[in-house]
Amino acid sequence: MTEAVLDNNYVISIDTGGTKTLAGVINTKEGIIARLKRPADSRRTSKSYLNSITEIVDDLIVKSNLKRRNIKAICIGIPGALNPFTGIVSLAPNLGLKNINIKEKLQAKIPIPVIIENDVNLGALGAFKFGEAKSSKNMLAVFIGTGIGGGLILDGKIYRGSNYSAGEIGHVTVDKKGPKCNCGNKGCFEVFASRTAIAKGILEDLKANKKSVIKKMISPGKPIKSRMLATAVKAKDRIVLKHISNACDTIGLVLANSANFMNFDMIVLGGGVIEAMDYFMLPKIKESFRKYSLKDASKNIKIIANNLGDDVALYGGIALAEEFLKIKI
Ligand SMILES: [Zn+2]
Repeated sequence: MTEAVLDNNYVISIDTGGTKTLAGVINTKEGIIARLKRPADSRRTSKSYLNSITEIVDDLIVKSNLKRRNIKAICIGIPGALNPFTGIVSLAPNLGLKNINIKEKLQAKIPIPVIIENDVNLGALGAFKFGEAKSSKNMLAVFIGTGIGGGLILDGKIYRGSNYSAGEIGHVTVDKKGPKCNCGNKGCFEVFASRTAIAKGILEDLKANKKSVIKKMISPGKPIKSRMLATAVKAKDRIVLKHISNACDTIGLVLANSANFMNFDMIVLGGGVIEAMDYFMLPKIKESFRKYSLKDASKNIKIIANNLGDDVALYGGIALAEEFLKIKI
């Protein structure tokens, strides 16, 4: 190994989702040089969470053949409410974390700076710095999967809000008399357009004996996956097309409201549902967006699909480390 390589900076990015954990050793120049993927810890306790993180860090250092000193930060994306400056996670229900200082606890075990961030913000940072949104200044990222999350970049910087809870676009109200949402309110965006919502609508139609190719792809008690939806869309399945088209109309509506309000220059759409069938969804979303947006707000705005897939949050780790440590990674 040459001196230059020995002096390179890297971060370990860890995206800890409710169902799986993705992690990688990464820097700007080389991208991801080592990676691993694990199912989420089913015990869902803070102790098992902390142990799994330290294990991943150790494994990735071995896998990448790097020395500890080359790793400048451990950046962790967490699906929940947290403060990246204090390191306290107030609530991440899918991981079993509540009112715990993850940063401090991990820092006691790992001699490398630990930085935590909301997973959707980390994705927004990745899309903004390394995806096709690189040229933008005011960007909204919306990730559509089990739920719907949003992240905001304003004037080139991540906007976290007064209580670090900005970007909860999944819980803007679309219909005040709509179905109940997990957050306690009614008619939130995500009860109409998340994968969970699309699947629910399809299952209701199947129960009513409507015909769909998706029937033979699903097994009882298991969720309908994005790739199953994509297969059904390719087969021009009427039931699936109807529910996805309805979701696209609602997505376009919420994006138009956001753009009317914030005048973004770029909207990046990501998450399993979009990435599996962006060729079908994006034109429909844009059509709905045009219908509901103001001329000034929609002029020159670009609506694109995330081109980094699941890695987008790992790339966000580079931006997060650079922000907090003021060094180039
Ligand atoms: Zn809600």
